[in-house]
Amino acid sequence: MIDKLLVATFNRGKVKEIIPFLEKHIKEVICLADLPNAEDVEETGTTFEENAVLKAETQFRNTGLMTLADDSGLEVDALNGEPGVFSARYAGEKATDVENNRKLLAQIRNIPKEERTGRFRCVMAFAMQDKTLTFDGTVEGMIQDRATGDYGFGYDPLFIPDGYDKSFGELGKEVKFKISHRTRALQKVVEHIKNYL
Ligand code: IMP
Repeated sequence: MIDKLLVATFNRGKVKEIIPFLEKHIKEVICLADLPNAEDVEETGTTFEENAVLKAETQFRNTGLMTLADDSGLEVDALNGEPGVFSARYAGEKATDVENNRKLLAQIRNIPKEERTGRFRCVMAFAMQDKTLTFDGTVEGMIQDRATGDYGFGYDPLFIPDGYDKSFGELGKEVKFKISHRTRALQKVVEHIKNYL
C-alpha cells in the first residue's frame, strides 16, 4: 500500500477519474491544486512520453512525493501523427476544442475515408525515488468528416473507435471509460503497483 500519491495536474476532474483505479492501493491521492506553491510545468517535449516524464519528475523533485503525470492526444496516420503533442493547441496557443476540430477536418478533407485511421494515445509517467516508469495506452479508430455528439471533450466528436459506428461524443461515458487510452494506461499503472509496490 502506498501512503500518498501526487497527480501532476490542477484539474480536479482528471483526479476524480483516476481515483477509482487507485483507491484500493493508495491511501491518499492529491493533486497540484492541494499544494500551496505548486506550479505547472511547460510541455516542451516532442513526444507524449517526454512530456509525461518531464511533468512527473519535476513535480517529484519539487515535492518529494511519488508522482503520476500524463500526456495524451490524437495521432492521425495520414497527417504523420499530427496533431500529436500539439493536440490541445493545434489551431493556435489558446485554441478551443471547436477550433481544433475545425482545423483537423480541414486537414483531412481530401483524404479518403479508409485512410483516416488514427488513435488516441495516453502516456502515464510514474516518478519515484529511484526511477521513473512509463505506461502507454491507446485506442485505435478513425476520424469522421463531421462532429457528432456532445459527450467528452477535445476530439471526441470526430473519433470513431474501432468496433463501433458512432463517435466517442455519441457513445458517452460508459464506453469511453471502458476502452479509452487513459483507462488502458491506468490499468497498466495499477498492475505495476499491485505487483511491485
Ligand atoms: P492533455 O493530455 O490533458 O494535455 O490533453 C491534450 C489534448 O489531447 C486535449 O486538449 C485534447 O485535445 C486531446 N485529447 C486527449 N485525450 C482526449 C480524449 O479522451 N478525447 C478527446 N480529446 C483528447
